[in-house]
Amino acid sequence: MPHRIAVIPGDGIGPEVAKVGVRLLERLGLPLQFEWFDFGAERYLKDGTILPRGFLDTLRRDFDAVYFGAVGDPRVPGNEHAKGILLAMRFELDLYINLRPCILIDDRLSPLKGKGRNELRFTVLRENTEGLYTGTGGVFKKGTADEVAQEVEINTRKGVSRICEAAFAFAERRGLARVCMADKANVLLHGHGLWRRAFADTAQRHPAIQAKAMYVDALAMDLIRQPEAYDVIVTNNLFGDILTDLGAALTGGLGLAASGNINPGRVSLFEPVHGSAPDIAGQGKANPIAMALTGALMLEHLGYPQEANRLTAAVEAQVRDGAHTPDLVPLLGGTAATTDQVADELYKRL
Ligand code: ATP
Repeated sequence: MPHRIAVIPGDGIGPEVAKVGVRLLERLGLPLQFEWFDFGAERYLKDGTILPRGFLDTLRRDFDAVYFGAVGDPRVPGNEHAKGILLAMRFELDLYINLRPCILIDDRLSPLKGKGRNELRFTVLRENTEGLYTGTGGVFKKGTADEVAQEVEINTRKGVSRICEAAFAFAERRGLARVCMADKANVLLHGHGLWRRAFADTAQRHPAIQAKAMYVDALAMDLIRQPEAYDVIVTNNLFGDILTDLGAALTGGLGLAASGNINPGRVSLFEPVHGSAPDIAGQGKANPIAMALTGALMLEHLGYPQEANRLTAAVEAQVRDGAHTPDLVPLLGGTAATTDQVADELYKRL
């Protein structure tokens, strides 16, 4: 049976990079069957569709993965369609692991003096279904001088334990020695006390892995000072959001950053970290590498680690001595190539 993949290119540069990603994945000759869906701003503006009724059930029943470009369009106020599409999939498919490798692929991309490929190699597992991102809370006396606003952070023992477990399992699978958990347990005594307890319990089940709990502010400093001290970082939704942007900036920027929204063994969603970048859409300037590396993450999830490595190696060679899009010119020098030129070279390398 081929693996079935739902491709949602979305808005802006999403379709430009999704086209490249699928072409590269097809080149690998694997039993992958792609089905394209047109959800995004265009469709929403035309007939009001965000995600059709029953689509999530179809994904659960008939698909192994979603390969997602980006959503967001200046014509849609507040980008309500984007929230409806992405958040619905993250929450309703229970994609509790947000996996973001922050791995430098070329020394010239590092903004840190003396830190290169050997030093910048950490991966963040961000809890993706709870924390401060559930919308729990409310506003009282809105718009008045007496306004009160409350945002509630949800931490469940089950939710925290399963993301901690996923971090240790990831370290074991990759042969990595260390897992660090980031919290703010010195101030957020209740919720982050729970994180400390759940992390310590999980660590006990994985005695071969070095486990360390840190305050997130100390970790943010240390990631700049000595990134080589970290292999796997596990943290909550908010801190993960911030640390992974730091990680993207340390490893070449948005044009290279890949992510997975995963529930192991179930349909999971893979997307580049960047958004729809309306400022450069339709101009051939989009860097397709984040989408290609996102494809490699998806291949690993589907059980093709060798092909994932092949794709990653082709990307590394491309960044080392191939053409690159304008975003990488300040870091790599040379002249800018188009999305399609980079894609053609990558295709040949594969
Ligand atoms: P969102 O809110 O959806 O994240 P955004 O416009 O705020 O959207 P991005 O779309 O991620 O943020 O883009 C931020 C900037 O980074 C863009 O304006 C663009 O110039 C640059 N950028 C993002 N992705 C790429 C890419 N793949 N290639 C080149 N430049 C990119």
